[in-house]
Amino acid sequence: MDSGFLRALEQVVGPEGLTTDSTRRRAYECDGLALVRRVPDLVLAPLDTSQARECMRLLREEGLAVIPRGAGTGLAGGATPHEGGVVFKTSRMRRVLEVSERDRFARVEAGVVNVDLTSACSHHGLRYAPDPSSQQACTIGGNVANNSGGPHCFRYGATTRSILGLTVITAEGEVMELGGPEPDPEGLDLVGCFVGCEGMLGVATEVTCRLIPAPETTETLLALFPSLDGACEAVTELIAENLEPSAIEILDRLTIEAVEASVLAAGYPDEADAVLLIDIDGLAEEVRATAQDVGEIARAHGAFEIRTATDAKERARLWAGRKGAFGAMGRIAPDLYVADVVVPRTKLKEVVLATTEICQARGLKLSNVFHAGDGNLHPNISYDRRDEVEVARVLEAGTEIMKACVAVGGSLSGEHGIGLEKRDEMHRVFSEADLDAMLRVRAAWDPDERMNPGKAIPVRGCMEIKTKPLPVPSGGSS
Ligand SMILES: Cc1cc2nc3c(=O)[nH]c(=O)nc-3n(C[C@H](O)[C@H](O)[C@H](O)COP(=O)(O)OP(=O)(O)OC[C@H]3O[C@@H](n4cnc5c(N)ncnc54)[C@H](O)[C@@H]3O)c2cc1C
Repeated sequence: MDSGFLRALEQVVGPEGLTTDSTRRRAYECDGLALVRRVPDLVLAPLDTSQARECMRLLREEGLAVIPRGAGTGLAGGATPHEGGVVFKTSRMRRVLEVSERDRFARVEAGVVNVDLTSACSHHGLRYAPDPSSQQACTIGGNVANNSGGPHCFRYGATTRSILGLTVITAEGEVMELGGPEPDPEGLDLVGCFVGCEGMLGVATEVTCRLIPAPETTETLLALFPSLDGACEAVTELIAENLEPSAIEILDRLTIEAVEASVLAAGYPDEADAVLLIDIDGLAEEVRATAQDVGEIARAHGAFEIRTATDAKERARLWAGRKGAFGAMGRIAPDLYVADVVVPRTKLKEVVLATTEICQARGLKLSNVFHAGDGNLHPNISYDRRDEVEVARVLEAGTEIMKACVAVGGSLSGEHGIGLEKRDEMHRVFSEADLDAMLRVRAAWDPDERMNPGKAIPVRGCMEIKTKPLPVPSGGSS
């Protein structure tokens, strides 16, 4: 890269914000999807919105691709520099700028780690609801870009429900202020458009987040089932009965064993083939009544024991086991392919069975831990990336699982996004006209397609999606 250009960047971000060294750049060759790797040409880490804007202007002049990156915990290759380019990371933008107790919002920089936002508002009796299991590491900016979910999104909704405003730097280096703390701003809903954009519309540098009051009481139940089928049936019934726990998670036998053998051992039982981990939030009386109804439904579907966490410490232990489950799977094999699909909740049992058959037919080791209340499945396949034959079987199983979900009215991703992993599967759920509309929206924000190229929307030629030429706006470009 031209040394004058590198010097100009260094003047903006300082030496600590610029990584050119090839060994250090290697740390950014992939995200949580370890199957696809490419070392970026450069890594930039601005300190704030103003530095981010200056960097984007310099990158525009060089015509370089920009790959926004938070913590790199994504599981679909979204932050992987597939075609080279500059990784633009937010890890130095970590300030909580404002917490308004009265108006119930927080304004944070995009690199703030999810759990740090929760901590910043908890002493105001407030909380930020979306809680991905990766919340100890993932950033609010990454959550926005992936419209991330989490166990408690069953009741409180995925990230999009909690985002009020954004500061975004476009590929052209312009700063856009979208939305804001007021409840219903005028104009097109560009915040809604940006959330879930997977880094293709710009870099979010600041985020205004909706906060909600912390519940008066939370009760945590663990329902023990002799089979995964029974646990799935119970979830379907809980939804049909309009019961509203705040979280309903399933862990199967293999997951329980891995967690219990790890440092996160949570006291999950030996004797169950599956457990439902359920949180119920609300006023004490309402929580008690719901817990009773939930227990009855679970028993009617075979639960042989319902345990209730006795104190906050036990609750925290049960949830730490769940949230650390992916990591614990490292005991089974060196690598884990975390599939992410979503189905109508009446189809959970059917699809879990289909998934088991798909993996068994290929001799693959499957475990399940998922946000059952949302119909969001995570069939996890343990494998060894050094074994090419096994890798091919894993990828084939991943595709078959997606097909099985789509066949019952489900979709490709419940929460992890499309990224590189599922880009070429998009035609299974979207028509050419749908994909064309997405490309046009993208082109309106980023005419040169320099933001996170190659992600989420099938590229022209790759799937033979042909877009009509965009009309040239009168008066030239802005
Ligand atoms: C153990 C584990 C558990 C997980 N559990 C969950 C879960 O429960 N629910 C869930 O939804 N996901 C989960 N994930 C996936 C992942 O953590 C989420 O997708 C998370 O939101 C990614 O955040 P990140 O900061 O790591 O983003 P990255 O992985 O760095 O980036 C993700 C995407 O966002 C874009 N991006 C990042 N920052 C910005 C920005 N500031 N502006 C514009 N674009 C940006 C990137 O280009 C990329 O496309 C889990 C992952 C792991 C490893």
